[in-house]
Amino acid sequence: MSEHGVDGLNSIERLDKEHVFGTWAFQSEVTPTEIVDADGVRFTDADGQSFIDFSGQLMCSNLGHSATKVSDAIAEQAEDVPYVAPNYTTEARARLGEKLAEVTPGDLSKTFFSTSGTEAVEAAIKIAKFYTGKDKIVSRYRSYHGATYGSISVTGDPRRLASEPSMPGAIKAPDPYAYGSTLDPMESLEYIDEMLMLEGDTVAAILVEPIVGSNGILVPPDEYLPRLKEIAHDHGALLICDEVMAGFGRTGEWFGSDVYDVTPDIMTMAKGLTGAYQPLGATIVTPEIAAHFEDNMLTHGHTYAGHPVACAAGLAAIETYQEENLIERASEIGEYLGERIDGLAADHPSVGETRGVGLFRGIELTKSTEERVPFGAREDKVSKGSTVVDEVSSTAYEHGTYVANMINTLIIAPPLTITEDEIDEAIEALDVALEVSD
Ligand code: PLP
Repeated sequence: MSEHGVDGLNSIERLDKEHVFGTWAFQSEVTPTEIVDADGVRFTDADGQSFIDFSGQLMCSNLGHSATKVSDAIAEQAEDVPYVAPNYTTEARARLGEKLAEVTPGDLSKTFFSTSGTEAVEAAIKIAKFYTGKDKIVSRYRSYHGATYGSISVTGDPRRLASEPSMPGAIKAPDPYAYGSTLDPMESLEYIDEMLMLEGDTVAAILVEPIVGSNGILVPPDEYLPRLKEIAHDHGALLICDEVMAGFGRTGEWFGSDVYDVTPDIMTMAKGLTGAYQPLGATIVTPEIAAHFEDNMLTHGHTYAGHPVACAAGLAAIETYQEENLIERASEIGEYLGERIDGLAADHPSVGETRGVGLFRGIELTKSTEERVPFGAREDKVSKGSTVVDEVSSTAYEHGTYVANMINTLIIAPPLTITEDEIDEAIEALDVALEVSD
């Protein structure tokens, strides 16, 4: 049990608050809580309180917190070759490249490595522009693609606003959001088709999350992604699928693109790639795109591109998904999770819609189910800086379950190792928490 001062913080939390810049809202509104242990699907704070990780931290801890094959591989690689410049290779990097070609859809075969999702998207944007010789990237409003300049520019959600005006050529399109949009998802596609026609031959790529993550777990109809690829290609543009959150078993398939049987031209990955044991981003392309860069330099790179320790973690993580059949497991136990979440919808009037596949689920909260009035992001403040939806999350936390939220949706993305009993425990906490919004 740690000692807390009058400010409610222990000594580590106070040091952190004083000397570390937080990210996004954590900068001023929320004080950091010290975490001292993590095991299986749980993590424990300095006061000894433990929580079910029902969102896999930032929807990235796909393997839970006890994947020893990954932590062992990290230790071994750090011992053997902790770092070499990217102009050298290591067995870990070469084998991870091969592994990604094996598990990603279709003929995707050659990977550019970076250290995060945002960098994976930056690389995808540059590759698409250099390959096509065109400048524009079409993405959608309800999307998040990262925080650096290019990827925040193609992000559609309000996080982009503070960084605008954005990168030239970043154009936004409507979303497949049947519950909250006036456009039917398939109609929204025809709108995109028209947009591309009106942009002339200037669009390098359409960039989408195949299943939208932090903007509300939006699952498009089966025909959506295949038709989107067709539209992109009809207009001489590439399809980039951002699999940073949907990838690595979350959906019950290896990738969100697999749910729709679509092979994009470029795919971005991070998060589940190492199960969050190491920071690693990856951008994989088709052989045609790779061949283009044999004669044309991809003027891009980072000191830590293909970092040996991160690649060793990625390789061990993918082997863990395979050896423990975690993708199939996510699909099976995801059915159970879906049933339990639908049960909450039946009991709580503030649940507008539940959506998702596998272990990638969202609970959209609404002030009125009939009129589908969402809780606003900031106008529904209950206490200092927190909205009704934040209060639902914090009540669940008081009852031992961590669940992330974005705007008016609770995002549920637990480790793929979660059991039915652990799901039941978390659902019980949510059942109590949803009384706040009812
Ligand atoms: N793309 C998607 C779909 C994401 O969900 C995220 C992060 O949540 C990113 C990109 C950015 O990844 P990172 O935070 O690792 O930079």
